[in-house]
Amino acid sequence: MPRAKFNNKPFFSIVVGNKGNDPWLRPHWRVLCYHEVLGEYTDNFRRQLLAFLQMGFAFVSLEEGLRVISADELKRPIMTVTFDDGDRTIYQNVLPVLDELDIKAFLYVTADFIRKSILYRKDTPLPVMNWAQLRQWLQQGHGIGSHTLTHAPLHVCSRERIVQECTISKKILEENCEVPIRHFSYPWGRHTKQTYELIKHGGLYDSAATIHRGKMYCGQDSYRLRRDLCDPRVSVESVIRIMRLADKWYWLRHFRRKPRGYWERHPEERWEALTNYETPSEGV
Ligand SMILES: [Zn+2]
Repeated sequence: MPRAKFNNKPFFSIVVGNKGNDPWLRPHWRVLCYHEVLGEYTDNFRRQLLAFLQMGFAFVSLEEGLRVISADELKRPIMTVTFDDGDRTIYQNVLPVLDELDIKAFLYVTADFIRKSILYRKDTPLPVMNWAQLRQWLQQGHGIGSHTLTHAPLHVCSRERIVQECTISKKILEENCEVPIRHFSYPWGRHTKQTYELIKHGGLYDSAATIHRGKMYCGQDSYRLRRDLCDPRVSVESVIRIMRLADKWYWLRHFRRKPRGYWERHPEERWEALTNYETPSEGV
């Protein structure tokens, strides 16, 4: 295998440190997790992906990453790009960049967002991709998975609600996108042992992704896939720095997690309030 070379841009010498013994050059799999990429940050998003390419990562699809991990065929550093929620900027701004760099990405879609044409998870509702745009995304070789029906925080949901979120979203996405939906990501990465067991043994999905940062190797539990949260607004140096720090210090892998008791202290942010709760089976 040819050794990946670094270019001579200054930030690499700052971020990479000891080039001769860089753990990022050893075979492993990393998954990036993005959300929206606004127009003014598209160039920065491209720069981030280019930096990883230049560092020696080969971009692979989610399915290929899972196959390599399970078949014990990890021979070089590989990377997968994923997006959560289904914001419309993914179609408008990201798709051309992915095509330009010949990268096959994966999008975890919240089915109810698409059905209601609005991303209501945030204070300011954002437009989402429509079914035609999702089908176009698939036609261009990218993948789609489920990110629940209503973006409910599964770790505070009843067992029944978790099952509904997983089964109904899968059904809606399969009907409208006309592809099997086999991969899942936990909203906010949050899951409990119950959520994990239900999805792992439910037979609906082949993998489930968290936002627990870090590298993955052969034998990785595919129902607790690690992902590095990336922000297209920040510099390449910052993105790489936080990833490297989290590799070193375990606590940083949970950097974005809410503190213990947060959901109890902020009932207005619980899923009942966020989703203006209705029985999810309605309208299916
Ligand atoms: Zn999400």
